[in-house]
Amino acid sequence: MAKRDFYDILGVPKGADQGTIKKAYRKVAMKYHPDKNKGDKAAEEKFKEAAEAYEVLSDKDKRARYDRFGHQGVGGNSGFGGGGSMNMEDIFSQFGDVFGDDSPFSQFFGGAGGGGTRTRRSTGKRGSNLRVKVALDLKEIANGVNKKIKVKKQIGCKTCNGSGAKDASSVKTCSTCRGSGYVRQVKNTFLGQMQTTVACPSCNGTGNMVTAKCHSCRGNGTQQGEEIIEIDIPAGVQDGMQLSVRGKGNAGSGGGGNGDLMINIEEKPHEELHRDGMNLIYELYVNFADAALGTSVEVPTIDGRVKIKIPAGTQSGKMFRLKGKGLPSVQSYGKGDQLIHLNIWTPKKLSSEDEEILKRMRNLNNFHPNPGKTEKGFFDRMKDYFN
Ligand SMILES: [Zn+2]
Ligand SMILES: [Zn+2]
Repeated sequence: MAKRDFYDILGVPKGADQGTIKKAYRKVAMKYHPDKNKGDKAAEEKFKEAAEAYEVLSDKDKRARYDRFGHQGVGGNSGFGGGGSMNMEDIFSQFGDVFGDDSPFSQFFGGAGGGGTRTRRSTGKRGSNLRVKVALDLKEIANGVNKKIKVKKQIGCKTCNGSGAKDASSVKTCSTCRGSGYVRQVKNTFLGQMQTTVACPSCNGTGNMVTAKCHSCRGNGTQQGEEIIEIDIPAGVQDGMQLSVRGKGNAGSGGGGNGDLMINIEEKPHEELHRDGMNLIYELYVNFADAALGTSVEVPTIDGRVKIKIPAGTQSGKMFRLKGKGLPSVQSYGKGDQLIHLNIWTPKKLSSEDEEILKRMRNLNNFHPNPGKTEKGFFDRMKDYFN
């Protein structure tokens, strides 16, 4: 069956902004939600279809690719693999926040979906974010890299499994909220009385009271530990960029979620190549005789050394371009180039024999500068470089 247009599925125009798309998805998802359409296969398919459309249209890059290339542009990168192979749990875990914590619909997205059991979002203390630096060399930046990093952090207490309780019998249902985790509060405001629901202050929203605390963690539910975290760093990142890995920061307590792990990218300077955005620049020095007679030289690139030809009569300042030998962009397609900037080496020390040769050259006709139209000046070369 041909795939439907993502904009049609959500019922929004092509240029719709993110707010409109989110609202439209919320509407469609509520309509076809499995809890409201028990056993209805067609509704389930529509629900999945909407999630797939939202997954693409809510992501700036994926949406741009979809707009340009259609379904093909996002087929390989859609987290669900496309079509009917989507998994309900993914939809709930990925898009639950569309409904917001305080929305009356949020309960639909609390559990693993479809089963009718609703787990309330806990409001314990969320773990803090962690920051680590990852230094990459140009080769790793060019190809993207998978790194395993050991992070010292707060992890769930191994003795009590993060509950903070001494044992199972020391967890009682909270008497203040009777296990719901919420209490109603009436506030007097200048608009009149307003009733709000807030996390139960006695149990911090967990619904449970711990009567005897775990000895290892003194009831916090967390302990100092470490974790080896695997991260996929995309090709083309730059010094100073920050990536975040959700839920890999410090563990929360009282059922609160984990913090995030923030990864700060550092670029290790390359010995010979300089980076300029997506381009790489190499300063090549050649002997005057080689430039006059022509030669071939080896230059370094990110994937090894390559030979380039220096034609006879090459002027100092000439730029050679190795197309596609630069770096990829982290946001889009395409690759930069490697530019080779040729410099003619002027000797700094001369023997008397050297001086003899040079003094003879000095007065020879062909050695007098005679730049013509084909010799590019500095500004022309810069123009070439930016094209
Ligand atoms: Zn413990
Ligand atoms: Zn309570």
